[in-house]
Amino acid sequence: MSAVSEKVEVLIIGSGPAGYTAAIYTARAGLKPVLYQGIQPGGQLTITTEVENYPGYPEGVQGPEMMVDFEKQATRMGADIRYGIATKVDFSKQPYQVQIDEENWIETNAIIICTGASAKWLGIPSEERLNGMGVSACAVCDGFFFKGKEVAIVGAGDTAAEEAIYLSKLCTTVHMIVRRDAMRASKVMQERVLATPNIKIYWNSETDEILGENKTEGVRIKNNITGEKTTIAISGFFVAIGHQPNSDIFKGWLDMDEAGYIKTMAGTSKTNIAGVFAAGDVQDKIYRQAVTAAGSGCMAALDAERYLSGLEN
Ligand code: NDP
Repeated sequence: MSAVSEKVEVLIIGSGPAGYTAAIYTARAGLKPVLYQGIQPGGQLTITTEVENYPGYPEGVQGPEMMVDFEKQATRMGADIRYGIATKVDFSKQPYQVQIDEENWIETNAIIICTGASAKWLGIPSEERLNGMGVSACAVCDGFFFKGKEVAIVGAGDTAAEEAIYLSKLCTTVHMIVRRDAMRASKVMQERVLATPNIKIYWNSETDEILGENKTEGVRIKNNITGEKTTIAISGFFVAIGHQPNSDIFKGWLDMDEAGYIKTMAGTSKTNIAGVFAAGDVQDKIYRQAVTAAGSGCMAALDAERYLSGLEN
């Protein structure tokens, strides 16, 4: 292990609503938090458009704009916000050590993990080959490129429903590939999808292959019941099949469920290691909302503060 380059009181990893809220609270408590923003500064909200359900914005707010507000508020409170990615950890003894950008090691007695979750992929070769050439996991980021064209989307949860509706406003037809005979999305979202005339649903269907050489030109789908294959001409292919927690570097140290979500003690942000706390989507596979992530970031800050003041261990 390289030499430790710095010691900080509280280290926050991740910059979504959980991370910035933890930064606001720990900074106000005088704990001089250092926050590393990670691969996607601002987190998943930077790839959404309008957020209508975050309290305090009566007219709604653009996701990226909201995260700039979060960052500004954390900075104003005195948090030290830095670019950088946590690449390794050593939680074997206090003070804990965290490696940043594969080089510097930082020491700290309290860590708040807010690394969030990332989009899942189907895992078929053509998806990887055409990624960025018509294949995307973010309709809101890339939908614009397919204005006036036909696209496909795979998935049937709230994300897929929301993205299909978003795409239907830009594209001529949205072909929605659903692997079962039912959608997982909430009733209201299903109704909106079914009421959108240019969304065409293919039930009981799986993606066999995405077609094209250097650009996406079609998709071949397979009916799970009949085995029948159908080719649809499209220019864009969107994957909206859920997310996975960004918890790889903590494997072997922290208790996790089978999907990799960090386990926290009920009603707290405490992990199985004293002084290591987790907040936001990396430990929440149920609610996954900006406001619940922010709330759990607040809990982690208060838990860390109590831990550092010796009230708990
Ligand atoms: P979900 O896990 O809810 O849904 C994933 C969807 O993808 C399911 O329909 C699933 O099918 C399908 N799927 C998974 N793997 C594959 C595969 N390999 N091939 C084909 N289809 C696949 O994820 P979401 O991202 O949609 O939602 C996550 C959470 O966030 C949910 O709790 C949701 O309610 C919430 N959310 C809320 C929003 C809102 O309130 N505005 C907006 C967006 C999300 P199957 O059903 O067969 O398992």
